[in-house]
Amino acid sequence: MSLSKNFWRWADKISFVEEGSRITLGEGDTPLIRSRHIGPQMEFEHLYFKLETANPSGSFKDRFAVVAVADLLSRGVKKCLATSSGNTGAAIATYCAAAGIECTIAILETTPLGKLTQMLAHGAKLVRVKGFGLDPKLSEAIFEMLSRIGKEQGCPPQISAFHYSPVGMSGTQTISYELAEQFAEIESYPDHVFVPAGGGGFALGTIVGFEQMAQTGYPMPAVEIVQPEGNDTIASALRNGKEKANAVNCTTAISGLQVASVIDGDDVLTHARASGGTGHIVTDDDIWKVQKRLAREEGIFSEPAGAVATAGALKAMAAGEIDPGKKIVCLVTGSGFKDPVSIDKMNEGIEVPTLDIDETAALLQS
Ligand SMILES: *Cc1c(COP(=O)(O)O)cnc(C)c1O
Repeated sequence: MSLSKNFWRWADKISFVEEGSRITLGEGDTPLIRSRHIGPQMEFEHLYFKLETANPSGSFKDRFAVVAVADLLSRGVKKCLATSSGNTGAAIATYCAAAGIECTIAILETTPLGKLTQMLAHGAKLVRVKGFGLDPKLSEAIFEMLSRIGKEQGCPPQISAFHYSPVGMSGTQTISYELAEQFAEIESYPDHVFVPAGGGGFALGTIVGFEQMAQTGYPMPAVEIVQPEGNDTIASALRNGKEKANAVNCTTAISGLQVASVIDGDDVLTHARASGGTGHIVTDDDIWKVQKRLAREEGIFSEPAGAVATAGALKAMAAGEIDPGKKIVCLVTGSGFKDPVSIDKMNEGIEVPTLDIDETAALLQS
């Protein structure tokens, strides 16, 4: 039981899970923050950040995991198989611990330490799979292998994509219901929502959520898809009027967005285009710079993948693609605690002196 405003108030809009199995750790209802510096500096008065970093395991993947694991619980499944670049695994391990379900996760070799130790802390068994995430054919083969073994063992694998795990992924739609609710409080509505895409599942959940709200009379924001240049499965295709997403050889170093195969890409492309949104490409360097700006200028502690939507928005704003009067939301998808190495990089060259009391006094007075 949680006494906080409950995620499951949206139960009627997502895949059905019986009431007795609706576990919660206080996921969702994350803060919506208006930019205090970055937006105003560019003369954009209505730039907002939705802080998915505030979820229990530190990323939006909790919206997926809470529903995925509740569904397993309702079916009496005792074991969970999952794949992950890190955050899905951390979220699944978190909710499996809460549900008393045993959890085994196949992860990428490149999974950052913060995410790996988080999975271990919750008691998950882990295996690093060679080449996973980087090579599209091999990645698909790994997904298929897990699906087959999961079926044999009576535990459908939890992969954070609609293509594989539609029940759990319906939980990601809640971000849009919340945004509608939060903007209603200020008698407003977003015009552009920037979302990062790896496999595209989160983008699709966000768009479907807004489509549902649109059916009940809300406007439809343009959902803008941002990808790193080194994993451009969807963004350029969307921008250039193509019908299909493309598998790539992934070269980005951004954990969470190393998804070489298309997965939900084709659906993202169709739905994002229908919403009036387009694709945006950013470099890894752009992403690290914006991760640092969020930390230094807004007080927002994000992992690199969490800064991708903002990097795309700032680029589009600077290029004159977005009208400065518009309301813009950037989804900050994961916390800085996930990836301490990326934080070290941000702090490169900064020395922390070790001094005695007098030296400390002298330093403070200087
Ligand atoms: C998983 C993840 C993404 C990408 O989500 P997809 O559904 O694969 O597109 C983006 N940011 C963070 C922090 C993630 O963990």
